[in-house]
Amino acid sequence: MPQRPVYDVIVVGSGATGGWAAKVLTESGLRVILLEAGRKVDPAKEFREHTWPYELKYRGTVSQQELYKSRQPIQSKCYACDEYGHQFFVDDIDNPYTTAKGKSFDWIRGRQVGGRTIMWGRQSYRLSDYELKAASHDGYGDDWPIAYKDLEPYYEIVERFVGISGTEEKLPQLPDSVFLPAMAMTCGSNSRRSTSFAPSAPGNTARRTFGWVQLSAQGLHRSSGRSSIRPASRKVSTVCTTLERTNPLERTSAIPRRRMSSRESRSYRS
Ligand SMILES: Cc1cc2nc3c(=O)[nH]c(=O)nc-3n(C[C@H](O)[C@H](O)[C@H](O)COP(=O)(O)OP(=O)(O)OC[C@H]3O[C@@H](n4cnc5c(N)ncnc54)[C@H](O)[C@@H]3O)c2cc1C
Repeated sequence: MPQRPVYDVIVVGSGATGGWAAKVLTESGLRVILLEAGRKVDPAKEFREHTWPYELKYRGTVSQQELYKSRQPIQSKCYACDEYGHQFFVDDIDNPYTTAKGKSFDWIRGRQVGGRTIMWGRQSYRLSDYELKAASHDGYGDDWPIAYKDLEPYYEIVERFVGISGTEEKLPQLPDSVFLPAMAMTCGSNSRRSTSFAPSAPGNTARRTFGWVQLSAQGLHRSSGRSSIRPASRKVSTVCTTLERTNPLERTSAIPRRRMSSRESRSYRS
């Protein structure tokens, strides 16, 4: 009689969290089974990043909330649930959920191997103690039981594996990652960075830099994430971001953190 395999660990879900857990556990020699509720995506056939708008049925001109209101009324509130990517978001009718009375919650979900790494924007930032210990600063919520120093070595391990492109900025509120070379800025952005956004510029409170982004370039490792090359008409995911350089503690003690409105909190979650 064939023997049923025995596993040391069952990991449920193959997103970033489950995927990484399975990787670490198998590398440590454990027998791991990873259960995934969704199907396997074939990136070569299903990713539409390189599709031109004129190749899409509605050419990206119809509002996504209008297009997908019958099956994806919640998912289509997410910016990426559009003609390019709506197929990676769940069908809200087939996947209902409940919320406490008077508390709405838009649950943006992907159900496939890779979970939401199939749709994410690849912007990759470390948390700092300004988030982890925020409650001590402004009194809202609770501090995390861990501090940035506890997380730092683990950030490094993941970043070395996935590859993060960016520039060292030495910002206390946004700790630097282990970086791959940064992408080149346009002449205009470069000029702004070295003039009005220069650390020495009088009255400067901000730094201009590229968004720190996960890239599988440099032959480091291949990821199941999205390609960085898109038609020029699509937004470029390596957005140029301005990062505040002021000490957020000074700011938050002067202006108490306000609770997010439900609309803000909805758009923040993705
Ligand atoms: C459009 C979009 C853009 C984003 N951009 C960024 C970004 O730029 N930077 C950033 O840091 N984050 C971003 N995020 C957030 C980030 O993608 C997620 O936080 C992260 O991928 C979540 O990983 P996870 O493994 O916790 O969950 P998920 O990726 O949701 O994985 C959960 C997995 O579990 C599976 N599952 C669920 N229930 C079961 C079950 N009962 N049995 C078996 N399997 C099950 C699901 O199918 C899914 O595959 C973005 C998210 C979205 C939607």
